[in-house]
Amino acid sequence: MSEWTLVIHGGSGSMRRGVLPEAEDEGGRAGLEAALKAGGAALDAGGSALDAVEAAVRVMEDDPHFNAGRGAVFSWDGANELDAAIMDGTSRAAGAISSVTTTRNPVSLARKVMEDGRHVLLSGAGADEFSRDKGLEQVEPDYFALAERRRQLDEIKAGGGFDSAMKYGTVGAVAVDAQGHVAAATSTGGLTAKRWGRIGDSPLIGAGTYADDRACATSCTGSGEIFIRAVAAHEIAALVRFGKLGPVDAAGSVIAEIGAMGGKGGVITVGPDGTGGWAFNTPGMYRGILRSGEAPRVAIYDDED
Ligand code: ASP
Repeated sequence: MSEWTLVIHGGSGSMRRGVLPEAEDEGGRAGLEAALKAGGAALDAGGSALDAVEAAVRVMEDDPHFNAGRGAVFSWDGANELDAAIMDGTSRAAGAISSVTTTRNPVSLARKVMEDGRHVLLSGAGADEFSRDKGLEQVEPDYFALAERRRQLDEIKAGGGFDSAMKYGTVGAVAVDAQGHVAAATSTGGLTAKRWGRIGDSPLIGAGTYADDRACATSCTGSGEIFIRAVAAHEIAALVRFGKLGPVDAAGSVIAEIGAMGGKGGVITVGPDGTGGWAFNTPGMYRGILRSGEAPRVAIYDDED
């Protein structure tokens, strides 16, 4: 079997052993395993890294344990507004969408934007219209809504401390296929109580998502405003290309910088040679890795693996 590697995340945050409810721990791990399985099946079938990251992210978008697709967080106005991006490291073609409300799988819409080729980032009602034009599955906006996410919004609006349990449940995947091509994808509902059309790092190429066969593919999660200012995913690629660091060392360096800027979160990354993994500065990050011919590994807390 040819060699490939798939790395995924389901968000970073203050998840601690014994504090995170058992059902969330187990559900999160099962969701990660299902995503690895879907992405791995695409690669085993000879699919590209791009196919694999899309397949893995779709599974997590459909899974209510994560803040992407179904189960996304609520905006201040009580809506679920979804952001996603995808990038092909070979051509550096990219597609992204922001603030969509009726597309079941935002990552697939991002891919349609990329394949259409005229634009890189579409937003709001126009992006949903493009989605319908491309024949993607549409859902009623309340498909995405979960009572627990609504409760978290209400708690924040009441001035409460949802922050103490804050988990950034954004999802992402990076992969290198048997041909040595890399790809990255990220999908999110953004931050609870986001307002004024706020857009985070996830759909911004170079900030939350980036892929370049000359360096590595990266997907980020965490305090988006800082990741934007650090141009985090591209910075990792730059450190690999010009700084001659390995992807995981480059990721560690950028996470340290983000910490110094007051940011929290994590990244996953993989290079064309299959070197890959993660770095994060939160107590936990939902994460997993699958290499061709090996068993999947998933983890949540910082003391694992
Ligand atoms: N980075 C995302 C954003 O700022 C949030 C997350 O990772 O959960 O929108």
